Amino acid sequence: MRPVLTQSGEISPNAQAQLSSLCLPEQVCQPDSSNSPLQQIVNQGYSLQLLNHRGETVAAIGQHPESLPSNSKLLAYHTQNISGGKPYHFHLMPLRKQSGEMWGYLQVGQSVGQFDEYMDTLHLLLIFGIPFAMILIGGASWWLAGLAMQPIYQSYAQMQQFTADAAHELRTPIATMQATIESTLAASDTAAETTQTLTALQRQNQRLKHLTQDMLLLTRLENDSTSITQERICLNEVIEDLEEELLPLALAANIHFQCHVPANGSKLWLKGDAGQIYRLISNLITNAINYTPSSGNVTVSLISQASEAIIQVQDTGIGIPAEELPHLYARFYRVNQDRGRKTGGSGLGLSIAQTIAQKHGGRITATSTLGQGSQFQIHLPLA
Ligand code: ADP
Repeated sequence: MRPVLTQSGEISPNAQAQLSSLCLPEQVCQPDSSNSPLQQIVNQGYSLQLLNHRGETVAAIGQHPESLPSNSKLLAYHTQNISGGKPYHFHLMPLRKQSGEMWGYLQVGQSVGQFDEYMDTLHLLLIFGIPFAMILIGGASWWLAGLAMQPIYQSYAQMQQFTADAAHELRTPIATMQATIESTLAASDTAAETTQTLTALQRQNQRLKHLTQDMLLLTRLENDSTSITQERICLNEVIEDLEEELLPLALAANIHFQCHVPANGSKLWLKGDAGQIYRLISNLITNAINYTPSSGNVTVSLISQASEAIIQVQDTGIGIPAEELPHLYARFYRVNQDRGRKTGGSGLGLSIAQTIAQKHGGRITATSTLGQGSQFQIHLPLA
């Protein structure tokens, strides 16, 4: 099917007959139902029209020519709204007669409405989406940074608390020593008064020494890089030694103190640092003696359960309120600020004990009834 273009800018009857979908300006055009290739192109959203050499519409294909714009400036490419307001992109191609002379032009148009809608949506997305995404990313980063900083804040707060508590603990003996020295310098002149002053200073000095030793030990224990010595320790012997060492303290406080190790003579062994294990059990027994009034009982028992050794320290002392039990192991914590101070305790004893137990793979548990007594249990894995 090849219509011959003979007269420039004119459609011959021959061409009209061959192109059923061709529609001339003065015609009333019927929709083409032949489904010809040209009509198929039109159905896909394209417009086809023939223009003369001045760019005026001569005929259209599949549409009425009046609905399509002419192209008087003979623009090779341009975008224009067709009647009905739809934007179309037009492309102009020259048509030649068989002789090679110019006949006119074929103008092909494609609807760009969908593309424009797509671009509008993209613009909206960019205008609102980018700030929204930035806010979202900013918020998420802020939240994640806060989360990552949490442990740092916590350890910083712990460090501050420790420094404040340590300074507070050190201040009391130093102030006492200062006051003693000042009053002695001002008033005393006898040898007896000097001895009294020196004894008071020695006591305070002793307290300072213990406090600094405890702080040093705790810092060393909590330093993860220090591994503990792995010697074989016989718990029966440790408890017997402690009984011997702490009996005078219990007697001075008029407390009935007794220790029970397994009766059948079986020995419980564990691996670790003997000095630290000694310190761990001694801290709990000393507390039991210190917080038990005169005529009370302190009983230490050693038993084995499954693969654990359990050292139980029981007293009939003043007891601890249930709500205080979880805080006992915090550094410098005292149930009642002055009750610990009277015993000369610094509030580091249980903190040290728990750190040692944990370093040896064990734990400490406690139960207590206010006014009736307390029971501390040290669980340690057997060798
Ligand atoms: P401290 O050196 O002051 O004794 P600890 O860390 O050993 O410090 O104990 C913390 C606090 O727990 C003590 O101040 C005391 O109030 C309480 N406490 C510990 N053991 C006992 C006990 N057996 N009976 C009553 N209170 C206790």
